[in-house]
Amino acid sequence: MSDRRKFLKTSALAAAAVVVNASQTEAREMKALVKPVTVKPVVISTWKFGLQANEEAWKILANSGRALDAVEAGVKVPESNMNERSVGLGGRPDRDGHVTLDACIMDEFANIGSVACLEHIMHPISVARAVMEKSPHVMIVGDGALQFALSEGFTKEKKDVEESQKDWKEWLKTSNYKPVINIENHDTIGMIAMDANGNLSGACTTSGIAYKMHGRVGDSPIIGAGLFVDNEVGAATATGHGEEVIRIAGCHTVVELMRQGRTPQQACEEAVARIVKITKNRGKNLKDIQVGFIALNKNGEHGAYCVQKGFNYALYDIKGNNLFNSDSYVK
Ligand code: ASP
Repeated sequence: MSDRRKFLKTSALAAAAVVVNASQTEAREMKALVKPVTVKPVVISTWKFGLQANEEAWKILANSGRALDAVEAGVKVPESNMNERSVGLGGRPDRDGHVTLDACIMDEFANIGSVACLEHIMHPISVARAVMEKSPHVMIVGDGALQFALSEGFTKEKKDVEESQKDWKEWLKTSNYKPVINIENHDTIGMIAMDANGNLSGACTTSGIAYKMHGRVGDSPIIGAGLFVDNEVGAATATGHGEEVIRIAGCHTVVELMRQGRTPQQACEEAVARIVKITKNRGKNLKDIQVGFIALNKNGEHGAYCVQKGFNYALYDIKGNNLFNSDSYVK
């Protein structure tokens, strides 16, 4: 090849490289222009009791605290409210009269901890955190969970909540197990937050569905079902019939859909659509099922969706702490 031809070829390649580089830079700049501004900190939680729980979480988030500390402090509010019939020791018992608690927690490093079927402890979420931080395991259940809690210095609460026991004795007259949707005999607080550093964490705690079989565990203490956090993508938590959430690995599904590019809203809707389809395919009646998801992505955008009307959630961001009705599949 002559020197001139070599020169022309090299110049052409160099020019092409410049064009490619220019267009890549332009593309990058354009992407930066359309990228939504990250809204942080932000905390979102299920149901109306989320409002009070968010207040507690916000105290930590507003002081540049860690999302993990915020979600733990937040969900402890309904856990210690003895008038709360679906979370904590004030919750309705199982069919044998035991109040059994389920909880899990997950941080930005994918550290996880969970307890299930735990009795006599005021703050199962803190026991879940102790499992995460102080045990070699990720999940401890039943008597073992109580034993672990006591060894970590948690106090054994002995007294049953009178009102819950009264409800249970009333229920025993028919012993009809049929969770009524949105009527307070189930509910869970799931809370997910992004802190000022942009890190995500989540917590989920419940007394489960009232009058369940002794030993029944729902979605709430199951990482991937009732809660999932991926610090690169987003976080999700769930409430409602745990069996249906577990069936589709609910919150992991929501987060993976966000990873594939769905907005939090689209991801929640798609997960609910999957539950609806499976319910119909199994020949079950959709009207007996309620599931609600809430989700948050790394831009601080949120989404919520449920099967039946009646699910609400509390969102605390720079605009304040507000309760919203979730859109639903069944209108
Ligand atoms: N998901 C909970 C459970 O199945 C109950 C609820 O959120 O309503 O135990």
